[in-house]
Amino acid sequence: MKKSIVLLPGDGIGPEVTAAAANVLKECAREFHHQFDFQEHPVGGTAIDLTGTPLPNATIDACRKGDAVFLGAVGGPKWDSLPVGKRPESGLLALRQGMGLYVNVRPVKLLEPLRGMSPLKPERLGDLDLEIIRELAGGMYFGDRGHSTEAGKERSWDTESYSTPEIERIATFAFARAENRSHRLCSVDKANVLASSQLWRRTVTAMSAVYPNVKLEHMYVDNAAMQLTLKPSQFDVMLTTNMFGDILSDAAAALVGSIGLIPSASFGSGAPLFEPIHGSAPTLAGRDSANPIGSILSATMMLRDAFGLNLEADWVEQSVVRVLAGGYRTPDLVAAGAKRVGTAGFMEILHEEMQRTLEHAERYGWGV
Ligand code: NAD
Repeated sequence: MKKSIVLLPGDGIGPEVTAAAANVLKECAREFHHQFDFQEHPVGGTAIDLTGTPLPNATIDACRKGDAVFLGAVGGPKWDSLPVGKRPESGLLALRQGMGLYVNVRPVKLLEPLRGMSPLKPERLGDLDLEIIRELAGGMYFGDRGHSTEAGKERSWDTESYSTPEIERIATFAFARAENRSHRLCSVDKANVLASSQLWRRTVTAMSAVYPNVKLEHMYVDNAAMQLTLKPSQFDVMLTTNMFGDILSDAAAALVGSIGLIPSASFGSGAPLFEPIHGSAPTLAGRDSANPIGSILSATMMLRDAFGLNLEADWVEQSVVRVLAGGYRTPDLVAAGAKRVGTAGFMEILHEEMQRTLEHAERYGWGV
């Protein structure tokens, strides 16, 4: 298989975790005889420093032409004083918009060797395995915003707005996802207060007639945040807005041990984009301390969901779990008795484990 992959390392720990994901993809190409052509482009603060803009034309052009895009993370204190529309994060929003991405899938799954890392008691945690389907192209991130000064008093505002077609296209994705999983869908909104949420709820409810085999439930976002910490295993597929999805997925990430573990995939009208859900973690940058697992699992989502390479994705994921089962932990996951490793050390051990798994599979077959 021949594919062109665009890498956008970005800022902070972005380059370190992007290198980890790219290494895994290269190893897949080598061992399974694929040709993955990589090209790297600047985005975020790095792009501001190089070109004066967080999303240079060459970067978005390359992303539109590629088969898949991998993004590390953007942002950092160096650019925090810039106005909202000129910050690294605005490059990320422009990228999502420019690539026509409107679905963001965030799987939050407990990796069994990390059960003890959850802040929840085992009986509350259960077998946590859920997916947050976050709307990515609308809501407060893209609504009208402004700033005014009257009589010396400042006022700023952001607006949350959704149209029926915007809700329908994300809900169509979520219903289909639920059909392929447990046939349960929980739509999260704030329909007791927000007009946009009332339209959201009405639209999703109307659509459920087309999916009679999916059990639809609605939940207010404040209750959903509480239920996630009380009994997360009650959820399977959660559908929600851009803003609520961003917040709930960080909360859900904490339940499985670290935000550094969670991958994501974004889909829309063009090439898909894959990225860990964490940010640029500026205090960890350059310290060989970032957990690369969220990025590696984003790469396996690319293999599976963009290229249909299920065996390759399984190979990497099983190897990651075996490394964790061997007790190796990056600093965010260190507990008593763990073998502490940095980002580079984790990647070395993962490489050895991937080779061992491959040799074993060649001799005895996969799935042993
Ligand atoms: P963050 O996700 O960068 O960090 C939150 C906490 O998680 C920090 O304690 C950090 O050290 C830790 N963490 C994050 N990723 C980790 C990893 N891979 N391994 C170990 N620990 C990890 O969020 P923040 O601190 O709120 O934001 C920092 C910067 O990142 C800001 O500029 C923000 O705007 C930006 N940001 C970017 C994205 C993105 O690029 N998609 C997403 C969120 C935040």
